[in-house]
Amino acid sequence: MQRWLGAVLLGLMGLTGLPASGSDFQHHRYEDMVRALFAVQRQCPYVTRIYSVGRSVEGRHLYVLEFSDHPGVHEALEPEFKYVGNMHGNEVLGRELLIKFSEFLCEEYRAGNQRITRLIHDTRIHILPSMNPDGYEVAARQGPELNGYLVGRGNARDVDLNRNFPDLNALMYYYEKNKGRNHHLPLPDNWEQQVEPETLAVIKWMQSYNFVLSANLHGGAVVANYPFDKSRDARVRGRSTHSATPDDRLFRQLARTYSYAHSWMHKAWNCGDFFEEGITNGAGWYSLSKGMQDFNYLYTNCFEITLELSCDKFPPASALPREWLGNREALVLYLEQVHHGIKGMVYDENNNPVGKAEISVAGINHDVTGGVEGDYFRLLLPGTYTVTASAPGYLPSTSTVTVGPAEATRLDFYLKTAPKQHLKVKHHSGKRNPSSLKAPLKLGPR
Ligand SMILES: [Zn+2]
Repeated sequence: MQRWLGAVLLGLMGLTGLPASGSDFQHHRYEDMVRALFAVQRQCPYVTRIYSVGRSVEGRHLYVLEFSDHPGVHEALEPEFKYVGNMHGNEVLGRELLIKFSEFLCEEYRAGNQRITRLIHDTRIHILPSMNPDGYEVAARQGPELNGYLVGRGNARDVDLNRNFPDLNALMYYYEKNKGRNHHLPLPDNWEQQVEPETLAVIKWMQSYNFVLSANLHGGAVVANYPFDKSRDARVRGRSTHSATPDDRLFRQLARTYSYAHSWMHKAWNCGDFFEEGITNGAGWYSLSKGMQDFNYLYTNCFEITLELSCDKFPPASALPREWLGNREALVLYLEQVHHGIKGMVYDENNNPVGKAEISVAGINHDVTGGVEGDYFRLLLPGTYTVTASAPGYLPSTSTVTVGPAEATRLDFYLKTAPKQHLKVKHHSGKRNPSSLKAPLKLGPR
């Protein structure tokens, strides 16, 4: 029996190239986490960079570890991706998985793993293992066995950060009916005074990088949850209804990508809950206002899903090796999805890049915008699409493109300067976001 067990363990080691036990799998308090991230940076100095997006209420840095062949630089046509962990301080598995994932990327890169090398060369990867380091310390002082369901969930002022983003959904749902703006919705007045320091830091981070794809790692259930989180009719209490984005099919596919690559998420029955295929629409589960994933979709180009990764919010260290093996392939495969759909450059007649062009896909009421360098990224499922690029001062340009299942299809646009009478371009209402409706607070895992 013991020999058999040993063989299984050896098999696991061979599979991962990592020891299945030992100091690798410990919980990391703040100082330990910072040490671990800087250790990765020292091990892989040419493909990593550490930066802070800001500080928590108690002054802890929100450190991001970046992987890229040119750290610190946006290269045109290279998409930006982010993973965010530990937004709820007591949901700690995401934090540990992202530390481990960082070590894994570095080790595999050094070992010449082709898949990982390619990923790092073709993608700019940003990893924020803890968005709520203050809450984590509160939870960690209790430890895994004693941690209550809510102790350490909020930040140091006990504010739930996943209920703290500006609410853009009400405005979106209004615009849908009135043909208003369908992306990059305006923030409310004085929004900076209405959010916590951690939320402010993360919003400024989103403003600084043109993120294309993201996941936010939580715990308390096992399911891949996709937008919208907020129900279209927030006033109906206790009712759960699917609240689809215009990219619903794509979001379902992104969520399925994670759940099927995860060792057991797709099996539907987990933690006493049933989620078909291991995925759920946020509002279809329970409606939640001011969450981060809806904000990503409505305020930026970024598509974000929320991953619930463990029944136990604070699992014992002994559970971490199994969790890592269960999530490792899913973390890599989900990241690779940033390379699907279409991407390209928008130029003027003299081949100069046109920054901030709007890219619209016929039949999907959600535009994306190009970066300042003229590059754009639009995630799409395989199929044939009619795509239009437009920018102030230029005539719009439309092309038809076919997207396959593999790499993103390259589609460049060349915009002609508009004659004077055409200079008035599509004008979006500049109306400010009305203050949001009060919705009942539900404290599930998300
Ligand atoms: Zn959570």
